[in-house]
Amino acid sequence: MNDSEPVGQHSKKITKNSRGYGLKQIAQMTLGSGNIDLAVELPKGEDLNEWLAVNTIEFYNDINLLYGMLEEFCTKKSCPVMSAGPKYEYLWADENKKAPLKVSASEYIEYLMTWVENQLNNESIFPSAIGVPFPKHFVSIVKVIFKRLFRVYAHIYYTHFPQIVMLGCQYHLNTCFKHFIFFIEKFNLVNAKELAPLSELINKFKERRNEENKK
Ligand SMILES: [Zn+2]
Repeated sequence: MNDSEPVGQHSKKITKNSRGYGLKQIAQMTLGSGNIDLAVELPKGEDLNEWLAVNTIEFYNDINLLYGMLEEFCTKKSCPVMSAGPKYEYLWADENKKAPLKVSASEYIEYLMTWVENQLNNESIFPSAIGVPFPKHFVSIVKVIFKRLFRVYAHIYYTHFPQIVMLGCQYHLNTCFKHFIFFIEKFNLVNAKELAPLSELINKFKERRNEENKK
């Protein structure tokens, strides 16, 4: 990823002078080296919360771009419910909705991305001023964000992979997802039950990584 403006309607930019910019540069440099394993590691001497914050924003922007390309294909007709294959269906629930809502995938993802964006823009959760501490419950919020963002990947892989291939974006999708999954694994952010819809793919990526690490 470079510094260009994401085309999706939601985005949060870490720009020069903003908190996390240095870490973002480090993350991009190590990712650019092609070693995703190394790219997820907390850089020596850095604060874990800062690292989680920078990466959460970047993962959000990745998904924003990926789903943005699929918006025209993900309609109420093609995807009347938010699903990840035939076995997994998701209802939308947040603190403002009393009962979980059964909505189309595009509506669900709109709710989801707006919810994440609100967390990222909430100064009491993701403080933008340097030196302002993160809240005590920061990691638990990050975990919910990752759990939810995963569902967008699950929907894309199950329902929109042919369109991703048509757009020639399968390598980009796989790279973003591998980075996301290895980051989750490294910091234990999402439990296995939540990751189950894509467990086969995840295991394949991990096996391949382990083989490559043996070389
Ligand atoms: Zn869809």
